[in-house]
Amino acid sequence: MLTTLIYRSQLNSSCKSIHLASLVEKARHRNAKLNITGILLFNGYDILQVLEGSEESVIQLFHKIREDKRHSDVVELMRDYGPRRRFENVGMLLFDLQVKSPKSVLESVLRYSKLESYLASDDRVFKFIQTFITQKNPSPPDTTYNADKWTLSRENAPFGECINGVIAHQSCQFALQPIVEPGEGKITSLEALIRGNDGGSPERFFQAIDQDKVYEIDLQTKAYAFALAEKIGIGGHKIAVNLLPMSLVNVPGAVEFLVDQIKLHGLQPEQVVIEVTENEMISGFNQFNSAIKHLRAEGIGLAIDDFGSGYAGLSLLTKFQPDKIKIDREIVSNIHLSGPKQAIVRSIVSCCTDMEISLVAEGIEKIEEWCWLESAGIRRFQGFLFSRPQLNGVGDIHWPQVTR
Ligand code: C2E
Ligand code: MN
Ligand code: MN
Repeated sequence: MLTTLIYRSQLNSSCKSIHLASLVEKARHRNAKLNITGILLFNGYDILQVLEGSEESVIQLFHKIREDKRHSDVVELMRDYGPRRRFENVGMLLFDLQVKSPKSVLESVLRYSKLESYLASDDRVFKFIQTFITQKNPSPPDTTYNADKWTLSRENAPFGECINGVIAHQSCQFALQPIVEPGEGKITSLEALIRGNDGGSPERFFQAIDQDKVYEIDLQTKAYAFALAEKIGIGGHKIAVNLLPMSLVNVPGAVEFLVDQIKLHGLQPEQVVIEVTENEMISGFNQFNSAIKHLRAEGIGLAIDDFGSGYAGLSLLTKFQPDKIKIDREIVSNIHLSGPKQAIVRSIVSCCTDMEISLVAEGIEKIEEWCWLESAGIRRFQGFLFSRPQLNGVGDIHWPQVTR
């Protein structure tokens, strides 16, 4: 199937633009062999390349480009399918914006294209090209958060040894995972994740219990999370717990129970954040709305969990605004490689900044993901990269540090 792929990248500084011509010459032969047509635009810092050909050969070539040391920050912007090629079968054409004006580059790109100009004006591929060409004063990339500048340094479990074994009479246990702010080198809060007494997952725990009692048990188990927070001595840190929204709606006196348990364990309601997922929230919003008011009236914080994974998205924020939004792992994983993911996260950052909602990116596993997100303005993170959930305690924390 005829596939078009567009990516953006940067030419490695060791690779001057003089070499660009020879690079393109080699690429021309390689592409011609694969029956790939392509154009390459260069503005002195960034490369924009369009590749067209069979799906198999385009993907094969793109994998090679990702591994090519002469390119850095290769970000896929678009992958699409169509009835015919936009460009003549030339292998590769170079358009250097350092030596030609944007207007003449645009004209020659259109000349090499087989697409009628009225079609080109509404074509995503040409819109990417046009935006790249007409971009005013391209600036050198900010290298503060280049992944190769950073390493991780370990801090031993900050709350001391974890309490081992089943705590008497508890029907479940909790694992704690810190949410960190690497820029400040501090822990923002601790999330309590439910575990079976065998250490099993939340899913297994909830499957194993009487299905009529899910909400009741979900609510009651939160007392163990607060007890754990007291036991390890979280001091002024916040503790976040997960709840099904219906656990607040269906169980009579749910908010009062939470407040009592919070205080019983020496915590303040302001230290506690309830996390609910986007999907669960929207399905029973009207009922849940009064529970939210009640929680807020007591001083308890509210976070939307797994934001961006469900169907509500930004429109949910027209109905109400939480204190905190946690961006789903699905959107942040490999964000350094994906143009669409980057565009979505930038818009979430912009919305949340305007509404003064604090953001957490969850499921960070790679230093490259963290680097991109920091440079996009996100300051709080949760993920295996920094710290794994630890049963009945808090594990080691790995802080990013600039290498000298
Ligand atoms: P969640 O609230 O989004 O919690 C984060 C989940 O992501 C946790 O899985 C955590 O172990 C995992 N995680 C954290 N960092 C990373 C990472 O870097 N990579 C990957 N792949 N995963 C990471 P866990 O503990 O299995 O929990 C799954 C879900 O179960 C939670 O997702 C939450 O929605 C739910 N859950 C946990 N505890 C409770 C609870 O007490 N009540 C209710 N109703 N749901 C709970
Ligand atoms: Mn959560
Ligand atoms: Mn989540």
